[in-house]
Amino acid sequence: MAKVETHYRACNLCEAMCGIKITHEGKQILSIKGDENDPFSQGYICPKATALQDLYEDPDRLTKPMIKTASGWQEVDWPQAFDAAAAGLSKVQQQYGQDTVASYFGNPNVHNTGGMVFGSFLMNALKSKSRYTATSVDQLPHHIVSYHLFGHQLQIPVPDIDRTDFFLVFGANPVVSNGSIMTAPNIKQRFKAIKARSGKIVVIDPRKTETAALATEHHFIRPGTDALLLLAMIQVMFVEDKIRPGRLASFTSGLDEIQQYVTPYTPERVASVTGIAADQIRSLVNEFCAERRAVCYGRMGVSVQQFGLLSQYLIMLINILTGRLDTEGGMMFTTPAFNVMGQTSPGYMSDRRSRVRGLPSFSSELPVSTLAEEILVPGEQQIRGLLTVAGNPVLSTPNGAQLNKALQQLDFMVSVDFYLNETTQHADVILPPVSPLEREHFDVIFNSLAVRNTAKYARAVFAPEPGAKHDWQIYFELSKRLVAARDVKVPLSKKLVSFLAEKMGLELPIDFVLRNGPYGGGWNIFKGLTLKRLLQQPHGVDLGPLKSTLPQNLTHKDKQIHLHLAFYMADLKRLEEAFFQTASDDSVSLLIGRRDLRTNNSWMHNSKRLVKGKQRCTILIHPEHALRIGLVPGQQIKVSNGGRHITLLAEITDTIMPGVVSIPHGWGHGADNTKLSVANAHAGVSVNDITDENRVDELSGNAVLNGVPVVLVPVEAEVDGLVVNESANVDELPRQKVYAK
Ligand code: SF4
Repeated sequence: MAKVETHYRACNLCEAMCGIKITHEGKQILSIKGDENDPFSQGYICPKATALQDLYEDPDRLTKPMIKTASGWQEVDWPQAFDAAAAGLSKVQQQYGQDTVASYFGNPNVHNTGGMVFGSFLMNALKSKSRYTATSVDQLPHHIVSYHLFGHQLQIPVPDIDRTDFFLVFGANPVVSNGSIMTAPNIKQRFKAIKARSGKIVVIDPRKTETAALATEHHFIRPGTDALLLLAMIQVMFVEDKIRPGRLASFTSGLDEIQQYVTPYTPERVASVTGIAADQIRSLVNEFCAERRAVCYGRMGVSVQQFGLLSQYLIMLINILTGRLDTEGGMMFTTPAFNVMGQTSPGYMSDRRSRVRGLPSFSSELPVSTLAEEILVPGEQQIRGLLTVAGNPVLSTPNGAQLNKALQQLDFMVSVDFYLNETTQHADVILPPVSPLEREHFDVIFNSLAVRNTAKYARAVFAPEPGAKHDWQIYFELSKRLVAARDVKVPLSKKLVSFLAEKMGLELPIDFVLRNGPYGGGWNIFKGLTLKRLLQQPHGVDLGPLKSTLPQNLTHKDKQIHLHLAFYMADLKRLEEAFFQTASDDSVSLLIGRRDLRTNNSWMHNSKRLVKGKQRCTILIHPEHALRIGLVPGQQIKVSNGGRHITLLAEITDTIMPGVVSIPHGWGHGADNTKLSVANAHAGVSVNDITDENRVDELSGNAVLNGVPVVLVPVEAEVDGLVVNESANVDELPRQKVYAK
């Protein structure tokens, strides 16, 4: 009989990096609990942690490579799968050009050490500029703002939540997410601590979220108008002489020029558009500025709106103008043991635009909202091949139905994924990597976004099954074949680096970066943080609270914060047009997203314990709004946009702003050719069937998922003698009459 063992590691299912303690007997997991000795999470876990077991034991998880044949999927050995994958992608590239094969990397990649350390090898081998990731349906504005202001796309400051006395939150729900672009496990405890020191938490959100329910104050805001409120707040700061950048002024030029841009945005002017009264805006500014330690933070709800980039920029401006950047209790930079910025490109803006719609690119990436049209619209450089890695864009990107159609048209597709889902079903070859518990884990990305500096490295809990491959091993095998197919001479130095990386695995590069990081001893092997020393601390090490690092750590060579006012303030013209020069259509409702504690995007739906119980894929609607459209409790509702619709159960609640509705994202599994038994049985609907790929933040190219106009019709409701049921074409119904009920 195998002996009972205990393994410590960080949960990698979301950004929070909670320490977990896994007890197992051989390959049988006995329990997954919070690790009380983890210096960061101190025993906290959310319900998702135990689903790591479900993921490991999931009979639907693919463990062998598969090739699609005329008679269906066929398991093959690895060499055969790699050869077929590389040959198929190379053939498309040789016939039509390098960039006609695109890549899409999903969100789980940033939670995967091997993916982060060796992902660039695969991208370099593919040699295609048609790159897409989940970034442009999520946090792209954060990267662009950081690139402009501080000089590096990953130099993103986070709220020093453990020392702040005033936490002003725009469009974020950390009680459910446990922090996003702010790794902070057990947020409830951190909120309690703020309140215990007589601090305040103020939430601005169109929904009274789980976070708002625990806050000291909450204000409804009309979706998509955050930029107006933020401009008005800055206007008040100037008018009421509250600008106090402090020492930031000595390395930030252009602060005096800001006032001219914000002058038109008086609280009175923005009040009716945002839904927040002028007095309330002034009082918010007064309270924020009066606190010595305060921070303004915005997340997903802000990033995925029509003015997402401008709004994230204005949030950063508020922190700078009030001296809350790089100061205790404000917005601070981390000092991670693994210096990820030193290993990655700072980013760049270029004139390169998407082929069909001309949307901007950032760094090497194009907005994912354009992927379907780049496949569907004929022309030179039309995308004909695709490589996806751990992503399900059919469910997670706008107008997923269109992308679903586009994927069927590809000449060849390869997916590195251990699920046969709505996206990978279209692949010709699937290459499944090991599950999270079968691989080592060091959080490369989220340590650099955490509200405290800590570090932890864990080896795999379980040895992979014989013949199974890590993600990074798949990358190397595929890369070798892609490079060989091009028949070009690879420089010896490059060959040597690839050879060493492949042979040595992950631990050597991680050790190297740790030794040369802020806590390492460099070449002095007796000093500092090394991988060996980290392995001796299975609960992880505490490296202290966030520290002031500016101006010396600014990436810009001149050690200045660059405001790039001209770039951002040019967007005010678009803002004016959207809110002051265009009549609002009162017949539509504004759709926003939401997430709950037991799901994470589209990933965790094949764990029964996470999806069972009460249906959570519902639409939230305010009672007054429900009355207006004749909706009664327990009724289904048809939600329509652009000729597409979904039907789902309505929940009538006053936690949502009147005129706004909310549908969670990540649901909608259940396509015929997928193998997700649990998820398909608890499918729900995909909100991205009615989001719009043409609705983007034009400044960044980020998708707009909040503030999407939709039309609602209760199913089986009678409208002017016309019985509306699921098959009715909602777009042809008399809208005003529907709403006049
Ligand atoms: S919050 Fe939950 S899913 Fe996220 S790391 Fe912690 S336990 Fe894992």
